[in-house]
Amino acid sequence: MSTATDVREQVVELAREFAREKIEPFAAEWDRTSHFPRDVIDELGKLGFLGMCTPEEYDGMGLDTVTYLMVMEEISAADAALAVSIGIHNAIPTTMLVKHGTPEQRERWLKPMARGELLAGFALSEAEAGSDAASLRSQAIKDGKHWVLNGAKAWATNAGKADLMMIMVRTDKPDARRGAKGISTFIVPTDTKGYKAARPEDKMGLRASNTAGIELNDLRLPAAHMLGDEGMGFVYAMEGLDAGRLGIGAQGVAIGDGDVGHDAGHSALRGVWLHARFPRRETLSGCEGYRDL
Ligand SMILES: Cc1cc2nc3c(=O)[nH]c(=O)nc-3n(C[C@H](O)[C@H](O)[C@H](O)COP(=O)(O)OP(=O)(O)OC[C@H]3O[C@@H](n4cnc5c(N)ncnc54)[C@H](O)[C@@H]3O)c2cc1C
Repeated sequence: MSTATDVREQVVELAREFAREKIEPFAAEWDRTSHFPRDVIDELGKLGFLGMCTPEEYDGMGLDTVTYLMVMEEISAADAALAVSIGIHNAIPTTMLVKHGTPEQRERWLKPMARGELLAGFALSEAEAGSDAASLRSQAIKDGKHWVLNGAKAWATNAGKADLMMIMVRTDKPDARRGAKGISTFIVPTDTKGYKAARPEDKMGLRASNTAGIELNDLRLPAAHMLGDEGMGFVYAMEGLDAGRLGIGAQGVAIGDGDVGHDAGHSALRGVWLHARFPRRETLSGCEGYRDL
């Protein structure tokens, strides 16, 4: 019988091999050309890596958080951009559906996401609402059994490539604003009329990850596409982000590790010691320290 440790070792080893063979050799080219490797993400999905933290009852791998983060380190070490795309999917929309989805929503969206058949993202930020996300302005108005969404989201990972996005908009009335309590979450299939992803941002790094704005133009959704309770969207988004930040932390550790390894190799090759301000010993122990957190 496999123990939890066996499972962890097998899953991390599978991720490492996949990353070395199918991601790392191509990552620089993807970055140079801003190529989004959907085919590789689909392959990862077939292996279960789009449902890492999703409970097994919803077709996921049901991994513990540490194993998930070890996998994120392996993928990030090969390509941090691809890691962002799958990290957001695994952490934010997945967490939101696991915690607050109805049985019908989990059946329709969460299970195919975990099986790697659907790619998801999350759109909270707006041009004027970044750190202060509760000041977002996109609005949904109730129309019978439907909601009609209008507005513009910004910098949403996977926005131009995902099959569905979890989108936070205001559902309070313009003449009775309720701050963070006036925001709700909607599950938006990206082929819905009125959804338009903008051209991806021309970023300085992570260029293979699709980061784009979204226009919401009279986007009409059945009421059953609202996640959880009306007015709770900001809370759900913060819960999702709590999970998402761990993955980004693992990504940072992998990037730091890679830089130290690269610099150490370069220094050894040139027979010099380049880390005058941050000796290698300290840099390495810094990375290990973050990993322990
Ligand atoms: C690669 C990438 C992927 C992203 N993916 C997503 C995504 O999938 N979904 C999504 O919704 N968003 C996404 N974002 C957006 C991201 O969440 C925002 O960039 C972030 O919330 C910060 O907002 P901002 O860029 O408007 O910066 P600002 O809020 O304008 O902040 C600018 C600076 O001011 C500081 N600052 C802000 N407020 C204060 C304050 N009160 N006191 C002191 N300092 C302050 C900040 O720390 C920061 O250093 C992504 C961004 C990037 C770069």
